[in-house]
Amino acid sequence: MKTKIAVAKGDGIGPEIMAAVLRIFEAANVPLDYEYVEMGKSYFDAGHSTGMTAAAKETIERLGLLFKGPMETPKGKGVKSINVTARKVWNTYANQRDFRSLNGVDTVFSKAGIPINLTIVRENIEDTYGGIEHLLTNDVAVGRRIITRPGSAQVIRYAFEMARRKGYTKLACGHKANIMKLTDGLFLETFYEIAMEYPDIESSDIIVDDLCMKLVSRPEIFQAIVLTNLQGDIVSDLCAGLVGGLGFAPSANIGDNISIFEAVHGTAPDIAGRGIANPTALLLSGILMLRYLGFTTAAANIENSLLYTLEQGIHTGDFGDKAVASVNTETFADAVIANLGQVPAKGEVIAQPDMEVKANHDHPLKNKLTVTSTTTTEEMVGVDVFVESSKQPNELAEIAQSKQTDIFKLVMISNRGTQVWPTGSIFTELVNEYRIRFEKKDGTEITQKEILQIAAELSEDLKVCSVEFLMKFDGKIGYTLAQGQ
Ligand code: NAD
Repeated sequence: MKTKIAVAKGDGIGPEIMAAVLRIFEAANVPLDYEYVEMGKSYFDAGHSTGMTAAAKETIERLGLLFKGPMETPKGKGVKSINVTARKVWNTYANQRDFRSLNGVDTVFSKAGIPINLTIVRENIEDTYGGIEHLLTNDVAVGRRIITRPGSAQVIRYAFEMARRKGYTKLACGHKANIMKLTDGLFLETFYEIAMEYPDIESSDIIVDDLCMKLVSRPEIFQAIVLTNLQGDIVSDLCAGLVGGLGFAPSANIGDNISIFEAVHGTAPDIAGRGIANPTALLLSGILMLRYLGFTTAAANIENSLLYTLEQGIHTGDFGDKAVASVNTETFADAVIANLGQVPAKGEVIAQPDMEVKANHDHPLKNKLTVTSTTTTEEMVGVDVFVESSKQPNELAEIAQSKQTDIFKLVMISNRGTQVWPTGSIFTELVNEYRIRFEKKDGTEITQKEILQIAAELSEDLKVCSVEFLMKFDGKIGYTLAQGQ
């Protein structure tokens, strides 16, 4: 019985490297059947706003697994990346990228005899990738960074489970909670909550800038690292650099129902159509997919052949010994096929089930919605009103004070997050967007309507750009203080 998966060949070099990889799968007798789906640039161009046909969406949702080549996102306003959309729409919340030194792929670390073997798990749905951005004044753009408790929990739990399956003894959480106290703070808090369920794995956290420094100076001290989306994006490309570049970095986007396997590099338009692209990253992603499907023996067989081929010095033009002539995509695939059954001198892969095996997937009847606590008490304590103004802080404070009521008092005005009233520095440079914070007076209760009323009052004298409610959750403030407040 063959397992059927959806395949999207992709744009640019996509069809060339996909053909090479599927040929290798066939030679290794992998029991897979393919249903090709229509996705990519030409489908955007043909008017499909999501970059895929309705039939492609139906096929992927039915089969639950997509193996895809790189895809080009047309440049221009309003078109979102098909890659990011696919990951978000289908909730592939964990992006797993395995990085290991490959014999035959020289790097500064391989030359120094330092082996690299680490895995990055990147949150794949949330963070700034919601793409929720607004130009509030002609000068001020603001983006929303969304970090949620359920979203953090599912990727962190995935990372701990993965660490266990791989036999790792430790997992680190990379973050910037010293600056982003509520968003990264929530991710970090969730990490340590879930860590309690995994006492066999040593858990630690590290600030992301320190992490980057340590990754390039002592990469061998890490086994697995879990990060939020944007930081994970950057750190995982840094790790690709440690092992020879994006051409050697497999990527699995794992969800509870649908998963996507792809190479992390792009469509390489500069070499597309010439048959010289390196299929290694897509092949490594395909090998991850085989392990995910439970074909661990075939996966190990192909990976050993790939490692042996690289060890022999066979390489495409983008890497390897310049003194040795490079081969094209087809010849590289031929060599991997010819070497099936061989094992590398270094780093032989043993067939082991280190991916969660998902042979079947559920087809939910309604959208899953997770709320983690129904007992939290909430209290509304004030409002931040963001306004456009080119006035000085004192002038603005006068206007804001004139709007104070029996319920609200003006407590602070900030510009780009730095307090400029009631105290501040004459050296603080300003832009034409301020935050005016009103808090309720002691002993009063306020309603959303009253909050919106004060924003409406301000709008008589100033352009209101946006409004954020100030809340307390179980007595703890759910907003940050301004710098200097
Ligand atoms: P790119 O990865 O396509 O190319 C960067 C450089 O790496 C180029 O010089 C290219 O020739 C080389 N390169 C990449 N893959 C290679 C391979 N397999 N073999 C040999 N050389 C390879 O990055 P880019 O130029 O920034 O992006 C081009 C397009 O790809 C854009 O439209 C972008 O949106 C898209 N893209 C898609 C994905 C994806 O589908 N997951 C990821 C990144 C970029």
